[in-house]
Amino acid sequence: MSDAAPGKSPLTRLPDGTVKQVGPLTGTRVWTVPGRAHRPIEMVRDAPKPLGVGEATRLCAFCPDRYLETTPEKSRLVGPDYTELRRVPASQLFDTTAEFRRFGNLFEIVSAEYWRENHGFRQPASVVAWARDYLGEAAGREHIEHLAAVRAAASGTEQSREEAALDLVGGSHDVIVARRHVVDGATTDDELVSSGVLSPREHAEYFGFTVRSLDELARSQPHAEYVAVFQNWLLPAGASFEHLHKQLVAVDEHGPQVDHELRLLAGDRSLYQHAIADLAVAKGLVVAANDGAVAFAGVGHRYPAFEVYSRSRANLPHEHSPAEIRAMSDLVHALHAATGVHVPTNEEWHYRPPGAPWPMPWRIVLKWRISNPAGFEGGTKIYVNTIDPWELRARAVADLARLRLDGAIAEGIRIGDECRPDDTRLRYAD
Ligand SMILES: [Zn+2]
Repeated sequence: MSDAAPGKSPLTRLPDGTVKQVGPLTGTRVWTVPGRAHRPIEMVRDAPKPLGVGEATRLCAFCPDRYLETTPEKSRLVGPDYTELRRVPASQLFDTTAEFRRFGNLFEIVSAEYWRENHGFRQPASVVAWARDYLGEAAGREHIEHLAAVRAAASGTEQSREEAALDLVGGSHDVIVARRHVVDGATTDDELVSSGVLSPREHAEYFGFTVRSLDELARSQPHAEYVAVFQNWLLPAGASFEHLHKQLVAVDEHGPQVDHELRLLAGDRSLYQHAIADLAVAKGLVVAANDGAVAFAGVGHRYPAFEVYSRSRANLPHEHSPAEIRAMSDLVHALHAATGVHVPTNEEWHYRPPGAPWPMPWRIVLKWRISNPAGFEGGTKIYVNTIDPWELRARAVADLARLRLDGAIAEGIRIGDECRPDDTRLRYAD
């Protein structure tokens, strides 16, 4: 098992059982020391609180009884067919129940002001008209005034009602929120709905909605070079609420990690095949696959991490066919289900920035945020990850098999050794 130079090859097990990893795309050094892998991974949480009558739908500002605490809604999906309603006026927000809804983040990472002041961005006439129409009804005016006051209190800067309305409807940092905070019929506040609790169909709608929103956000902000897409689940993973949501943030640079990968790609366009997929096969780290995507136990991550790769020829998520998007959704959903509800996670989407010169696959990394890098890591830049990739793969394969028997994951998923040689062939550079 042990390769020639400990610490230099991507994945090595030393004679005492210590596993050393080097991230193939990042160079990150990670150690897993023996004897720590079987600790429980679920977060220690306060004792569950009983839910009073009607409380399940107003636990946080993302809950369905509190639509007016979030910004004007760009879009919602309603009914059994997930019909899309766009720009619902404040007076009609409670006429339907949103299965999923998208709106601007009240506290943006990259603000509307950033695009206006640094890039000279002006909203198109359609957005200006939406802001005006929203203010045109009493409920909308009241909604905007309330949100503007919340923002002003946080930032210390006042805006006119018209300016506030335009920034609130025209931001480039969106949130997509699921309907349920807790499962239907929950009696305590810890019966949360994570991605893995959604049905495969619900998850596919959530996922497809996110892909369409990514495309829309990129089009709406012409100065953006990239739209970051991610999901923080539970407080230790950076979430503000224990209510399922994804975020999309337009940014005017794609950041140093993509730059690094582009330099590697310049020398090897099949980088992800060689450095990731072939390594996973050689080391026995293939977790699952279906006809459009494949999941690996990732090497060289600070936290235990799955990597789900699209096997499409397309690079950008919104250039994938509906079946290809569904394939990605099904594998990501299955891994969330295998992870469990009470494990803090980050789901990070990676794809080729539209302006980048080399092909890159769409991939999604799902990280278990079960440890906290501390002084040892700060001092050495060696990260201690309590679960090595082989252990992660073994756990996931066992859990996926159990979930399949329960009918809790999508059909068509091949688990562990059922995967076929062709399942690990990436086509992004074909
Ligand atoms: Zn909630």
